[in-house]
Amino acid sequence: MRILVTGATGQDGSWITYQHVRAGDDVTVLVRRKSNYSLGGLDKLFQEEKPFRVVYGDLTDYDLLTSLVMTNNFDIIYHFGAMSFIPPSWENPVSTMEINANSTLALLNAIRRHSPSTKIYLAATSELYGHPKEIPQTINTPMNPVSPYALSKLVLYYAGEMYRKAFHIPVYVGITYNHESEIRGYEFVTMKIVTDVLTKGIVKLGNVKAKKDWGYAPEYVKYIKRIVEHEDPITFNLCTGVMATVEDYFNYVKQKFRPDATYIVDPSLYRPIEADEMTCMQSLEEYKPILKWQDVASIQAEYILHGKLYGKELV
Ligand code: GDP
Repeated sequence: MRILVTGATGQDGSWITYQHVRAGDDVTVLVRRKSNYSLGGLDKLFQEEKPFRVVYGDLTDYDLLTSLVMTNNFDIIYHFGAMSFIPPSWENPVSTMEINANSTLALLNAIRRHSPSTKIYLAATSELYGHPKEIPQTINTPMNPVSPYALSKLVLYYAGEMYRKAFHIPVYVGITYNHESEIRGYEFVTMKIVTDVLTKGIVKLGNVKAKKDWGYAPEYVKYIKRIVEHEDPITFNLCTGVMATVEDYFNYVKQKFRPDATYIVDPSLYRPIEADEMTCMQSLEEYKPILKWQDVASIQAEYILHGKLYGKELV
């Protein structure tokens, strides 16, 4: 199979690339050119050998996106590429919208015009529910975004549904809840807690009462790949069904690995509005994640302590 992955240096993009390469597929990754040659998460999952094709380019280079779709006859495009960290989306709302929403429209339009049988997976998010209208959420819960990031993903969500209905393009939209792994960036709270507790015994946090549903990214990505390969085009939720607070996550890591650890609250890390009380009812029973947030914390700790990449065994 011929696969294109946008956002391939990020957590999910790296794991999906790893899975498809392992399956023997022909994978192209789209990577933003930086001054260094780092491939982010891909460097952690692949050592010297990089058995995929790297195309350098920006998600806002819509001509490049179009020509990639036009000339490669991809079987599947995974659109994970995005400005995906919420706090900076308040600083740069316009570029967040350009990167996240317009790149999605450019890809959908290119598929419509040049490659209508290409399947596309769009990475939506539980942030769409924002201040959720119900707990747990279902696929029918009304959207209520509360950040520029979520707003940009709302465009992605509706664009996906629209192109599927209007042009019968095989669009898959995954509304995934927080999912973490050992290659998660330090700016996300789980990796920050595990790294700082284990290495320093102290961590600075914002809103420790925020309640999320944290799953294990390689498991989510494994299910996404299976859904795209085996199911009809669909919009689905993916979560563990279990919520915990940031403080619960800290306490678990503290009690298991470093009983003397503490946290301090830094008000500058609070968000203007918090999206929380996030959890869902499974829409696709056979793709129910098994690993819960405690497993995720332990896997991250194993990586910090011993460099173990559990996700490679899982997929
Ligand atoms: P997000 O849900 O995609 O924004 O993932 P994050 O890992 O960035 O944040 C998860 C939750 O942790 C949010 O509700 C944050 O408000 C909360 N949080 C509390 N302290 C921190 C912190 O120090 N850093 C981050 N990133 N989030 C924090």
